[in-house]
Amino acid sequence: MSSSAWLSKTLHNGDIICQACAHVCKLEEGEYGICGVRRVEGGELKLLVYGLAAALNIDPVEKKPMFHFLPDTSVLSFGTVGCNFKCQFCQNYTISQYPQEHQHHIIGQELPPERMVALALENGCSSIAYTYNEPIVFFEYTYDTAKLAHAQGLKNIYVTSGYETRKALDLLAPYLDGMNIDIKSFSDTFYQETCGARLKPVLEAVKYAHEKGIWIEITTLLISGKNDSDEETRSIARFIADLDASIPWHLSAFHPTYKMLDIPRTPAQTLRRAYKIGQEEGLKYLYVGNIDDEDYESTYCPQCHDKVIERHGNIGQFVTNRLDKKGTCPNCSYLLEGVWC
Ligand code: SF4
Repeated sequence: MSSSAWLSKTLHNGDIICQACAHVCKLEEGEYGICGVRRVEGGELKLLVYGLAAALNIDPVEKKPMFHFLPDTSVLSFGTVGCNFKCQFCQNYTISQYPQEHQHHIIGQELPPERMVALALENGCSSIAYTYNEPIVFFEYTYDTAKLAHAQGLKNIYVTSGYETRKALDLLAPYLDGMNIDIKSFSDTFYQETCGARLKPVLEAVKYAHEKGIWIEITTLLISGKNDSDEETRSIARFIADLDASIPWHLSAFHPTYKMLDIPRTPAQTLRRAYKIGQEEGLKYLYVGNIDDEDYESTYCPQCHDKVIERHGNIGQFVTNRLDKKGTCPNCSYLLEGVWC
C-alpha cells in the first residue's frame, strides 16, 4: 500500500525535496529517503508504508512514557517499518531498520486510518500513539489518522526523536495533543556517530513544538560512559528548565541491545544521580524509567510535595491518581501542568 508523500516539494529539474524531517532528503527518480519508506516513483514522492502497521498494541499511556497525560488510560499504539535515525541502541531495530536491512522490502498489516480509529474506540482507548519507529517518516499516515481520531474525541501522541520540520509541526499541531521527545544526548558528536543525526534540529523541534502549545515530555536513555556524565546530564536539564521547568523529564535505563551489546545495563544509582541534577536545575517533574522504583516514578506536587500520582509495579500496572480533571493537588490546590481530561 502506498500513497502520495505530499509533504514534499518538486524542484525545477524534477528532483524532489522531502519536507517531513530535518534530513530534508533531495531525491531523484527511483531514490529512497534515508528512512527507507519514502521514494520517488513516477515523478512523485510516495509513502510506501501508508496504511501498513508493523507493530500494534494497546498500552497504558504511562508506557509511552507520558505521565502528565490522561493518567491510567489506554492508548492504541502503532508504528510502521523504517526510520530516519540509525541508533545503535535501538530497542525496536527489527522494524525501524527493516527496509534498510532487507533490500528495501516493506512489511505491515493493512490498517488504514479509519480502521485504526475504529480499533481505538472498540478497545476503550482515550488516545492513539504514533510510536515504535519514528512517526515523522510516515507523516501522511499519522496526519490522516490523527485528524479522524480528533473528530471521534480521541487524543493523539507522537513518540519521537524530534526531527520534525517546522512545516510538519505546523500541519500536525491542530491534531497533536502530546509528544514524548527524546533528547538522546547533548553532544552533536554522539548524535552523528551513534544515531546518524544531528543535535541542533532536535533542540529546535522541542522548542517549536512547545511554542505551538503541544504538551511535551522529554526522555533521555542514559548509557554508561556514553551520555551519562554529570556535565552532559546538567546541560540537558538546563536546556529543558530554560524552556519550561514544568516539562517532565524521563530518565530511562539502557539495556544491551542491537549494536550496543558490550555496554552493561544502566545502574539505578546513575538514574537517581541524574534525577537529583534535574532537581538542582529547577525541573518540577522528574521520573526514572525501565526500573521499578515507586519513589522515583511517582508524581509529587511541586508546591506541597504531596504524592499526587502513585505508580508502581510494571509500568502502568498500578496507577493511583489523586488529581481532579483540572490537575488540582488535593492537598494545596496547586494546578499541576499536563493534559488531564
Ligand atoms: S522523512 Fe525520510 S525521506 Fe523525508 S527527509 Fe526524513 S529521511 Fe528523508
